[in-house]
Amino acid sequence: MLAAQGMTGKRNTVLVHATLLLPMRSLAVLNTAIANCTTCARLVNYRQSIARTKRRQFMDWIYWGRPVPGFGDPQARLYVLGLAPAAHGGNRTRRVFTGDRSGDWLYEALHRHGFANQASSTHRGDGLALTDCYVGAAVRCAPPGNKPAPDEFEHCRRFLRDELHLLKKHRVVVALGKIAFDHYLKTCRAEGLTPLSPTPKFGHGVAYRLPWGVMLLGSYHPSQQNTFTGKLTRPMFHSVFAQARRELGRR
Ligand code: SF4
Repeated sequence: MLAAQGMTGKRNTVLVHATLLLPMRSLAVLNTAIANCTTCARLVNYRQSIARTKRRQFMDWIYWGRPVPGFGDPQARLYVLGLAPAAHGGNRTRRVFTGDRSGDWLYEALHRHGFANQASSTHRGDGLALTDCYVGAAVRCAPPGNKPAPDEFEHCRRFLRDELHLLKKHRVVVALGKIAFDHYLKTCRAEGLTPLSPTPKFGHGVAYRLPWGVMLLGSYHPSQQNTFTGKLTRPMFHSVFAQARRELGRR
């Protein structure tokens, strides 16, 4: 649910609905719709070709090769927004941030701060469960070079919109990377919500209390490009989830 809020700081009950399409009725229905989507021809071709050719170390896997739904607790107050599934991560395992180095960082941090029951995420059926946290992505298909095209962001935005509508309790959003940060705000704007003025600006560790009752936190994406170069360190990454935890408190 995206809830509109007055400038008094108190959440009110005005719900902002999609202007063209009604949101999905449940996360289960939404996740089925995501998994069956074939809107973006370029991404369909790419994810399927990766699933056929595979990577040498995963030759014995049957790759998922389809869009990757969100994952986590339907009652979540923390929502984590990534960019897109990795070609040999989520596109292989069918679970977001699973089976790749970025996932190692993300779930280790979520575990450290009490949102995950274990620090590793290797495959569906590995026992990972999230509490009070849900993980999604701006684009649900693995893109070539980890770079979705503008029209692919546009096509996929409806799934983020519906996910946010259905995660009625979310109060903190952690955006992994500038693209996810800006995409979240764009999605909210398209729903008629007006962010702060001036518009929130991405940076690692930034925090914005948005007028609709959500705290938006920015973090560098835990991609290898950032973690191998030291642009993002473990303490830096943990500090973002520590802030989310402080905001939400223990429950
Ligand atoms: S990126 Fe999104 S809209 Fe495009 S095919 Fe994948 S799931 Fe569908």
